Amino acid sequence: MEHCLKFYIDGEWVAPAVPRVMDLLDPATEKLKGRVALGSAQDVDRAVDAATAAFESFQNTSREERLALFDRIITAFRARQEDVGRAVTRDLGTPTWFASGYQTSMSLDHFIEARRLLETYPFEFHLDGNVIRREAFGVCGLITAWNWPGQLITSKVAPALAAGCCIVLKPSEFAPNTAVLLAEILHAAGVPRGVFNLVLGDGPGVGAAISAHPRIDLISFTGSKPAGVAITRAAAETVKAVHLELGGKSANIILPDADLAAAVADGVHRSFINSGQSCIAPTRMLVHESRMADAVGIARETAMNVTVGDPFDPKTRLGPVANAAQYERVQTMIQAGIDDGATLVCGGLGRPQGIERGYFVRPTVFSDVTPRMRIAQQEIFGPVLSIMSYRDEDDAICIANGTTYGLAGYVFSADLRSAARVATRLKAGRIFLNGSPTNPRAPFGGYKQSGNGREWGVFGLETFLEVKAVLGQLTV
Ligand code: NAD
Repeated sequence: MEHCLKFYIDGEWVAPAVPRVMDLLDPATEKLKGRVALGSAQDVDRAVDAATAAFESFQNTSREERLALFDRIITAFRARQEDVGRAVTRDLGTPTWFASGYQTSMSLDHFIEARRLLETYPFEFHLDGNVIRREAFGVCGLITAWNWPGQLITSKVAPALAAGCCIVLKPSEFAPNTAVLLAEILHAAGVPRGVFNLVLGDGPGVGAAISAHPRIDLISFTGSKPAGVAITRAAAETVKAVHLELGGKSANIILPDADLAAAVADGVHRSFINSGQSCIAPTRMLVHESRMADAVGIARETAMNVTVGDPFDPKTRLGPVANAAQYERVQTMIQAGIDDGATLVCGGLGRPQGIERGYFVRPTVFSDVTPRMRIAQQEIFGPVLSIMSYRDEDDAICIANGTTYGLAGYVFSADLRSAARVATRLKAGRIFLNGSPTNPRAPFGGYKQSGNGREWGVFGLETFLEVKAVLGQLTV
C-alpha cells in the first residue's frame, strides 16, 4: 500500500492541518493501492510562511553555491533513479519501459539543463551606463497534472531553484508518489529548509489556496484549460504572474512526398505513447487525399501490433489510462467519433480483448474524420488517433490551425525545405520535422488556448526571473 499522508514543509515531513484523505486505485487492477492526504488553505499558509522566510537568503545565494546545490541534486536523483521510474508506473500505470526510460530521464534532464544554464547565464548586463538585472521572482506556486508526474514537476522546480526562487508545489492528487520521491531527493541533496515545500491535495482545497495567496508572487501551472482559467481568475486579485501550460490537439501533416510508412508509424506511436496522455500527442494525422487508403492500412497494422497489458510486464507497450474519470472520458469521445460519422478503423469502445479489469483502452484509429467533428476538435487524452484528408498544402494548414489549441505540430516531407515552409505557417509552439526527437533545451509551450508561457531551457529559467533596471549605477 502506498501512503502519501504527509507534506514536506520547512524541511520536515508534517501532518496535514486538517485530516482528509482520498483513496487511490491501481489503474491496472482497479484495486485500492493507497491513500493521499488532501491539504487545506492552512497547509498552504504554513508552506508559504516557510518559503517566504527562506527566500530572504536563498535569493542571494551565489552562482557557485547554486551550482554546488545542483550537483548534489543530480547525484541524489541518480541514486534514486530506479525508484523514480517505479513511482511513475505506480502513479500512472504507464509501462516500465517508458516510465523508467523517457519519463525518468526527462525528469533528470531539467536539472542537468538548469545547471548548465547556471554556469554562464548573464543575470546582469549593462545598457547606456545603467545596470539591468534579472532577479529571483519570489515565492512560486507550482501546480501540475498527473500525466508526466516527474517531468512536469522538474521542468518547473529546476529553473525556479536556479533562479533563486522558493517553491510551494502542489502535484496532481492522482500522482503523489513521484512528487513525494522528488521531495525526498531534494531533501537528501540538502536543499535549504523552506526553499522547496510540497503540499498534496486537490484543486479546490490546495490549488485554489495557492492561486489566491497574497504572498505567492508567481504561478506556473500545467493542466487543463478550465483549471487554468480558474487559477488566472483567482490570481488576478493579487496581480500574480501566471504561466499556463494547457492542452493540445496537435496536427501531424504528412506531405505527399513523405515516406508514408515511416511517417504514419511514427504518428501512431507518438499518439499512443503514455496511453495517449501527452499534451503534445499528434492526435490529428493529416494525409493527402491521394494517399489515404495506404495511410489507413499502415495505421491499422501499427495500432493492432501494440501490446496492451500489465504495466510492470516488460513486454507491455501500452498500459491503462490513469484513472476512472479518464477512462470514462476516453470512452465518451470514442462514442462521439462513432456518432459523428467517422470510420472506426480499429479499436473502439470497451477494453481490449482478454482484459476484464483496469482502465485499459483499445488502441483506436478513426479515419474519414472531418474538421468539425468532436474527435477533431477536443483533446481526448487516450490512445485514439483521428486520420483526416486534405486537398493541398493550404487546406492542410487551414485544418491544422483550425482548433482552439496550438501546442505542437508535426510535419513529414522528403524535402526539408517544404517541411520548414509548412512549419512557419503552423500556429503552434513546438514543431517536429520528420520525426525529430524532443530537446529539453528548446522552448516548450503553446499558442492560443494551449497556454501563455514557455518552459524548458533558458525560456524556462527566465519565467522565474524578474527584471530590474538600476539607472545611473555606472555613471556615479
Ligand atoms: P487538471 O487541470 O484537472 O489538473 C491539473 C492540476 O490542477 C492538478 O494538480 C489539479 O489538482 C489542479 N487543479 C484543478 N482545478 C484547480 C483549480 N480550480 N485551482 C487550482 N488548481 C486546480 O488537469 P489534469 O487532468 O491533471 O491533466 C490533464 C490536462 O493537462 C490535459 O488538458 C493536458 O493536455 C494538460 N497538460 C498540459 C501540458 C503542457 O505542458 N501544455 C502537459 C501535461 C498535461
